[in-house]
Amino acid sequence: MKLTPKETTAYQEHFLMDRETIKQYVVEKLGAFPDDASIEVTEIGDGNINYVFRVVNATTKDSLIIKQADVLLRSSGRPLDIERNRIEAEILQLQNELAPQFVPEVYYYDQKMYAVTMEDISEYQNMRYEMIKKRIFPNFSEEIAEYLARTLLLTSDLVLDCDEKKRRVKAFINPEMCEISEDLVFTEPYDDYKQRNIVTAGNERFVEENLYQNEPLQVEVALLRNNFMNNAQSLLHGDLHTGSIFINQTGLKVIDPEFAFYGPAGYDIGNVLAHLYFPMVKNLFDSTRDPDFHQWSKETIAAVYDQVQVKLEKYYDEAVVFPLYRNHAFKETMLRGMMADAVGYAGTEIIRRVVGDSKVKELSFIPAEQKIAAERLLLKIGVQLIINRQHITSGGQLVDGIVDLAGE
Ligand code: ADP
Ligand code: MG
Repeated sequence: MKLTPKETTAYQEHFLMDRETIKQYVVEKLGAFPDDASIEVTEIGDGNINYVFRVVNATTKDSLIIKQADVLLRSSGRPLDIERNRIEAEILQLQNELAPQFVPEVYYYDQKMYAVTMEDISEYQNMRYEMIKKRIFPNFSEEIAEYLARTLLLTSDLVLDCDEKKRRVKAFINPEMCEISEDLVFTEPYDDYKQRNIVTAGNERFVEENLYQNEPLQVEVALLRNNFMNNAQSLLHGDLHTGSIFINQTGLKVIDPEFAFYGPAGYDIGNVLAHLYFPMVKNLFDSTRDPDFHQWSKETIAAVYDQVQVKLEKYYDEAVVFPLYRNHAFKETMLRGMMADAVGYAGTEIIRRVVGDSKVKELSFIPAEQKIAAERLLLKIGVQLIINRQHITSGGQLVDGIVDLAGE
């Protein structure tokens, strides 16, 4: 959809829009639909951060999405830097150049209203809920690997001009969103210093011994945390869980990159891997274990790792031209580092979603009597991934060690 927004004296200062004001905005400001169009607006936001409206021209069925941020968090009402909305719009625009197939098109970014107007991707479904229903997506690993390899490698300064890279690091500095991850992902799960962890009854000692008092693990987590904070390698999505991936049998779209910043490439890869373990473990412990889904999950975790590696190498060979960086041993070292990071960050993500207060939905489907065992399995997987990350060289190793309760 091509939009030519209108010059108007309205909408010069941010206010939070509702369904009525959105109707006016799409006509008066965006000029998206004619003045007399019959417009339907629904608020479809299911996140706890922002406001998302689906706008449909009832006659033509043309539709678009407007995502607006507020100065306050939608759920708790606490303040959160509204610049996150500009960052989201800008990274979506950049990713539309690097991997257009995998992101919604941005029609317009309104800097004053902090509102992104974008393509409606409603024909794709939330991947987390699809996997809870044990649906299988044979093309997922190939497609997400393509998205990851392109968006991560092609935003790094292995490829970019150094001025451009530094300009982007600055544009995507995202301190408040990063602080959320620094705390929730890399600190609280290991010491509960804010007393916000929620540990399943019966697992208190297990968590105490395996996380709070596990010094060798804490050293590795500290290294991963420091790397997250200091390694401005690639422009990350920053929150790439399966609720940000919308999918159907024809393809996928990645949304919601408001945590974007320049960080270690492995962080996004690791998040994708982590969120494939949750539906797999849920399927092992719920009442309707599906062997096909189990098989697909295992193969997919392995394939995401393997295909990301292959594609990083491919785009490296195609796009890196700086002579010193063309050195084979340098390339191997860089890519090995990214993959080791990916495995480590898969581990930290699994752990934080089990003991932290941002639980994944999958856990709520595990029957109470199985919860202790399921969560221990996930925590063990998380710890192993962190500890062994430097020794893993193929995707198969990510799933080999898993207690195979499916009885294959
Ligand atoms: P938040 O930042 O609040 O988490 P999200 O970007 O995750 O918001 O969007 C919340 C929900 O709105 C998504 O889960 C999805 O259902 C819907 N949504 C967001 N963007 C689009 C889009 N471009 N097309 C269709 N639905 C969308
Ligand atoms: Mg979201």
